[in-house]
Amino acid sequence: MKKTIITPPLDTPSGWTSVSKITPMGTSEPLEKSLPWVVIGAGFTGLTAARRLAELNPDQPVALLDARPVGWGASGRNSGFVIDLPHKFDLDTPEPDRLRKIIHLNRTAIHDLENLITDHKIDCEWSRVGKLQGAVKERGTGLMRKFAHALELVDEPHQMLDQQGCLDITGTNYYSGAIFTPGSALVNPLSLARGLAANLPTNVLLRDDTAVLGMTSVDKGYELTLETTDKQTYSTTASKVILAVDPFTPEFGYLKNRILPLLTFASITRPLTDSEKARFKGTLDWGLTPADAGGTTLRMTQDGRILLRNQYANAPKYRADKHMLADVEEKQREGFEKRYPDLSHVPFETTWGGVCGLSANHVSHFGEVAKGVYSASCYNGVGVAKGTISGKLLAEMACDHATSELEDIQTISGLPSLIPPEPIRGIGVTTRLKFAEWQSKDEI
Ligand SMILES: Cc1cc2nc3c(=O)[nH]c(=O)nc-3n(C[C@H](O)[C@H](O)[C@H](O)COP(=O)(O)OP(=O)(O)OC[C@H]3O[C@@H](n4cnc5c(N)ncnc54)[C@H](O)[C@@H]3O)c2cc1C
Repeated sequence: MKKTIITPPLDTPSGWTSVSKITPMGTSEPLEKSLPWVVIGAGFTGLTAARRLAELNPDQPVALLDARPVGWGASGRNSGFVIDLPHKFDLDTPEPDRLRKIIHLNRTAIHDLENLITDHKIDCEWSRVGKLQGAVKERGTGLMRKFAHALELVDEPHQMLDQQGCLDITGTNYYSGAIFTPGSALVNPLSLARGLAANLPTNVLLRDDTAVLGMTSVDKGYELTLETTDKQTYSTTASKVILAVDPFTPEFGYLKNRILPLLTFASITRPLTDSEKARFKGTLDWGLTPADAGGTTLRMTQDGRILLRNQYANAPKYRADKHMLADVEEKQREGFEKRYPDLSHVPFETTWGGVCGLSANHVSHFGEVAKGVYSASCYNGVGVAKGTISGKLLAEMACDHATSELEDIQTISGLPSLIPPEPIRGIGVTTRLKFAEWQSKDEI
């Protein structure tokens, strides 16, 4: 297979830190002509895959490549919920054994991340405060019951909150109720991704200024055509490749017409001032995900910034343009002011979009996609814990290192179903998203 790959765009990054701080962290040494292991993509999936490969092969170099600085992609743009429980589409199949496997895998990821954060003193606002699953009106309440039912099936502790209970935490009476579950973590995802990258094992060579433009099967593996941000091109051969590029996977020729690159958007305010915090009716450091997947994710950070995430768009070019962001900002502003009329003077610092892989049948993909090429993708918008565990297990699969978690992840993953190519896809997806937005209008 030889083709030119569309690489990640240089678009507005997240507001988790100032853009000037999102610079390459890796070496600028060219890679060797031939390498045993190359991991493409330095999001959570690639970071953990590279780490695990390096641990299992301490005498071998592992190259970790990304076209953009660590944290530029979805892993540094998300809302920072590291979720232990089945979420969104995971609830479509409330089969207890499957739900338990999902929980165990997510909790293994949370445990691994927590150990790394502690061992390397990664400063990323990691907090084990759990999370709320909130409802505004009837539709949300119905979906909240579905979530409660799934939790009961697997005996997971949870606490129902009424409107006052929600107000006491979130400082808004916008929510009629919520379910609190204690196991998730909240984090500044950009600081976490960069902290993980700064503390990789010494046999990992990170180059987060290097795009992979082509990948061709050769005798001893795969020849990769590389281009650095200063436009130097060269090639290297990898015996085995881990593809950790989520929505970009079809660019490499795998899972073609099976992964939908979907944009979702977030805005974040400046930190509240001390007097605004004193008047705020809720607390700091909490997160609420919507019971209705079409609703709004809401978060208050430890330093008093409020984040909103909602809305989806088809992203054939993997980016949001300025008009799209202006429109999103206006709608998110409206959502913010409905929740916090007393804070309507507090500006957003940034509004951004990020692209993640979605499958039409809502399954995640995990496995060997060609001889010596391993890939995990399609986390359907919930990929912090799932990406973390998938990367680790892809490395174990590539090294024939059998574990019960590896068996579990294969059991709960599947083949994303076929979706029509553009432009039919664009028309269908946009129509479907508009309908979903209309259905969820009261929960946004
Ligand atoms: C706004 C938003 C909010 C979200 N909130 C949450 C949340 O709260 N909790 C949660 O669990 N999930 C959330 N998600 C989803 C989550 O961010 C993703 O599922 C997760 O980051 C996927 O990780 P990844 O490492 O697989 O992929 P990515 O983070 O997308 O990393 C893939 C990397 O591959 C690189 N790449 C692609 N092509 C090439 C190439 N040709 N050459 C070199 N490099 C390449 C990219 O630059 C990128 O860095 C959210 C997503 C968004 C956009």
